Amino acid sequence: MSAERRRKAEKIRHLLETEGDAVHENITHMNAERYDAIERFDDFEALREEARAIKEDAIADLPALVEQVRESVEANGGHLYVADDAADANRYITDVADSKDADTLVKSKSMTSEEIEMNDALEAAGVDVWETDLGEFVLQVADEGPSHLIGPSLHRSREDVADLFNEVFDPEEPFETAEELTAFARDYLGEKIHAADMGMTGANFVLADSGTITLVTNEGNARKTAVTPDTHVAVTGVEKILPSVEELQPFVELISKTATGQDISQYVSMFTPPVDSPTIDFENPDDPLGSGDGEREFHLVLIDNGRLDMREDDQLKETLYCIRCGACANSCGNFQHVGGHAFGGETYTGGIATGWEAGLRGEEAADEFNDLCTGCSRCVNACPVKIDIPWINTVVRDRLNGDATPSEFEFLVEGLTPDAEDSVDLQKRLFGNFGTLAELGSKTAPLSNWTAKLGPVRSLMDEYLGVSRERDLPQFQRETLVEWFESRRPRAPNADATRKVLLYPDAYTNYVLVERGKAAVRVLEALGAHVELASPIESGRAPLSQGMIDTASEQADAVAADLEPYLEAGFDVAVIEPSDLAAFRREYEYLLPEAAHDRLAENSYDVMEYVYGLLENGADGSTLAAPEEPVAYHSHCQQRTLGVEAYTEAVLEDHGFDVVTSDVECCGMAGSFGYKSEYYELSMDVGEDLYEQFADEDDRTLVASGTSCTEQMGDLFGRDVTHPVELLDPGP
Ligand code: SF4
Repeated sequence: MSAERRRKAEKIRHLLETEGDAVHENITHMNAERYDAIERFDDFEALREEARAIKEDAIADLPALVEQVRESVEANGGHLYVADDAADANRYITDVADSKDADTLVKSKSMTSEEIEMNDALEAAGVDVWETDLGEFVLQVADEGPSHLIGPSLHRSREDVADLFNEVFDPEEPFETAEELTAFARDYLGEKIHAADMGMTGANFVLADSGTITLVTNEGNARKTAVTPDTHVAVTGVEKILPSVEELQPFVELISKTATGQDISQYVSMFTPPVDSPTIDFENPDDPLGSGDGEREFHLVLIDNGRLDMREDDQLKETLYCIRCGACANSCGNFQHVGGHAFGGETYTGGIATGWEAGLRGEEAADEFNDLCTGCSRCVNACPVKIDIPWINTVVRDRLNGDATPSEFEFLVEGLTPDAEDSVDLQKRLFGNFGTLAELGSKTAPLSNWTAKLGPVRSLMDEYLGVSRERDLPQFQRETLVEWFESRRPRAPNADATRKVLLYPDAYTNYVLVERGKAAVRVLEALGAHVELASPIESGRAPLSQGMIDTASEQADAVAADLEPYLEAGFDVAVIEPSDLAAFRREYEYLLPEAAHDRLAENSYDVMEYVYGLLENGADGSTLAAPEEPVAYHSHCQQRTLGVEAYTEAVLEDHGFDVVTSDVECCGMAGSFGYKSEYYELSMDVGEDLYEQFADEDDRTLVASGTSCTEQMGDLFGRDVTHPVELLDPGP
């Protein structure tokens, strides 16, 4: 492994050992609450649509909304400042502190202040800053950065926090329970709030027509922070503006459910500052109350810091719709195991952090963690504003790729995997061109398989291509699916069938897992369909996963051209590999003209979804193989995102199989990810959840829909794994 990869692997291993358990436990709990809340809530999809539309309009109108906020805030008696960047914002805030002779400031709910490193600026100006959110307070005491958008210290267990507080605060009786810790923090921070000269909050939403800021919290400290000191500064990103209270409702509903799984948060505070509640003088107990009238000061600081440029960037713009609920991070297999200290930048963590960090600090800021998004797409359905987070990761990866320096070991992939993007890192070029590699491997099999197993070859692959020595390599078949299909063409039985289906042979099915392709052909024919095979052109899924968008576009064009005459002739398209179906239905939206994408998306089916349709429409299931053994089935992430996983289970159960289905978030493999030397251990750690689920199912046949899951389960269990369509194969 190269030094750079070794460093990455060591960092990940360290975090798995030190923070992994707490991250996993806390996120598992949050996810359970989230799933329950969404299950109970019938309007989730409708509200997501509504929220998305509101955000699209608000970001489109942002300059006008900023001016409306200015008018509203000033009409209320407050001040609005739009800060260009971190330095500008910090200068303004420290000037306010200076004008108030402030020695202390208390803060609540302001990730944006973290983004601009405001604590450092204020402390350099002689102002003591205290975090009053419990999680942020823990981080302040520990002198650490946040590891989660909404649970900044979720990488720490209760025991960790107790040890930390006992060491730093040295109480008479050591803290043990969560109640003791929170009671101490509440009293301690309550005194800080009493004594503070200024209060600072963030704002989940800012309403343009009234200048109202909305804070969605669970601890109650934010409202104390906002109104106890006479001076309140709210700092937030300029993208948080909504037109009016009418647009607020979907977001308040959604953010509680997707963030913490609550129907509604403990506190939804709406302030229209400067508020006119009386000011309080704690040092003057005989006459503590002022009028509030004219005695309070309010400053709203809206931070640009790159956001207005993101608005002009067609690809990164969606990031501005984010309401920072953290659901994308929680739904991510890798994040669940390693947390935001590996999977995030200086402030923002998880999948969407790539968009934020790239937009605010430049693409290089996302380089370190961008690869941890495997493109599994689990976060897509979790996001309350329907942001295509994997696509943002792909775009940033593509932009970063251009920076790879040519390697002296270029010859290891040149010729073997030609592509237009020759400034891409060798490892990515190798994985991004898997189809070319598979074609060559198949032509030279079994020699290619034998050579690839040799120790010195594996060492070379590990060192220079970053292919893990631990992972078994695919075994290429000499006879491809296309060759097999052509060899039996005179026997094609259903040329006059009413249902015509084109089977798409992905690279794995054509060159490696050929049996599942043969089984698919025989099953479809047994159910009365006329089957043809498409040309073995790569879908573009492999290069997309490496951020090679130009190569993926070329392949998508070629696939569309190949499939077009069949679609024209009334063929349906059946796809074996779920990630290719996801490409056809989702990612081709970015790669093909709209009409071509729509047509392909509407006429493509997961092969088991198609089998289900044939059976439902009267095909004779008795022509299929009878069930032999009970099965343990793992569905592919992309199938679940597309909502087609249930068809496999339905077909198998209706056909008499005894099926146990896994409900783990992810198998941890996601294609090339688990092959990469630096990520192999993380991939296996994620896979442990799946292993534990099926550990006692020795008597069941292991079944997986996707190639990556097949490989991961093969490694985890040391047993053969079959595709569901093979269970139905009536044979030659
Ligand atoms: S991208 Fe979506 S899911 Fe992720 S934090 Fe933002 S709003 Fe939540």
